[in-house]
Amino acid sequence: MKELVDILRDEQHLESRNYKALLECDDESVVTYLHEQAQNVAIEHFGHGIFVRGLVELTNVCRNDCYYCGIRKSNSNVERYVLTTEQVLQSCKRGYELGFRTFVLQGGELSREKAPWIIDLIGEIRKRWSDCAITLSLGEWPRDVYKAMRKAGADRYLLRHETHNAEHYGKLHPTEMSLNNRIQCLSWLKELGYQVGTGIMVGSPCQSLDNIVEDIEFIEHFKPEMIGLGPFIPQHDTPFASHHVGSAELTCRLYSIFRLMFPNALIPSTTALNSITPKGRIMGIKAGSNVVMPNLSPTEYRDNYALYDGKSHINAEAAEGIAQLEAQLASIGYHINWSRGDFKPTIKRKL
Ligand code: SAM
Repeated sequence: MKELVDILRDEQHLESRNYKALLECDDESVVTYLHEQAQNVAIEHFGHGIFVRGLVELTNVCRNDCYYCGIRKSNSNVERYVLTTEQVLQSCKRGYELGFRTFVLQGGELSREKAPWIIDLIGEIRKRWSDCAITLSLGEWPRDVYKAMRKAGADRYLLRHETHNAEHYGKLHPTEMSLNNRIQCLSWLKELGYQVGTGIMVGSPCQSLDNIVEDIEFIEHFKPEMIGLGPFIPQHDTPFASHHVGSAELTCRLYSIFRLMFPNALIPSTTALNSITPKGRIMGIKAGSNVVMPNLSPTEYRDNYALYDGKSHINAEAAEGIAQLEAQLASIGYHINWSRGDFKPTIKRKL
């Protein structure tokens, strides 16, 4: 089995059945070898620096009703908010002073009429902090809105495809949402020149290992600049409230597989991973991830952005806990890389 790891590292590709074999493998020594190789590849490309992105949770208002998500529109127990322009700019200002050079605006999906406000907001951030990257994670929009957001100054877009299997997609989403539209959005974003991120929840309800292999192969074909993976975590007001939590171990195994497939990709060690295990962030970095996204949102709104139960947004998961994050990274020989951390397509692995 270690040979599969070597092939993946050297050729950045495996046959479907071999991806599945790596996902199923219960030999500890192979899994350790997979993580070591992935961590080595990450160090070879990025050194011991971990990029930070300041996350601003713009709103928990959402027009969609994804069955797994705590801010789905039919959850009437959520106290809804939309940050004001001033609150977003204040969050970015604080982030800039702390040293952040990427802001990520994430949120539920506002109505189409709010697009001009978002576009103006992006323009304002671009004007005030011209040296920063602006990443959006605001879901599905028509092509012309993505185009206007890009023109206003957005550089990157995160849109997890969630699953590449249409039947599975249908189990996670209501009928008015479609996998085809999600994939269409991803290809528009690419055409428009965004650095694009996609990914999945690991252990989402009804997900099989074969589904994950389909996701790996979709990502292999799509070639995103960023890959976002976190464990599924139930939220008590959703239809999947009693579903079990996704595996931290499988999440890390996927970080390693994607690191070997895409040596120069930006792969966050996610908040969801860190929310299910206190060592999650470190486990993710040791498996080859190279980005963390501390929370820059005004503290009084963080509890309301409750995608899942037990979401961490304090200590090293929060922008104000930077010293703690630095200490945590230093304990494993890493440090924060404060640069914008754009994707560098030119880096080539030596065979
Ligand atoms: N609305 C945008 C979208 O769908 O891309 C961005 C916000 S959405 C809340 C961000 C991500 O949160 C989703 O892509 C999903 O993978 C993740 N998420 C939602 N509910 C989750 C849950 N219960 N457990 C883990 N991750 C979850």
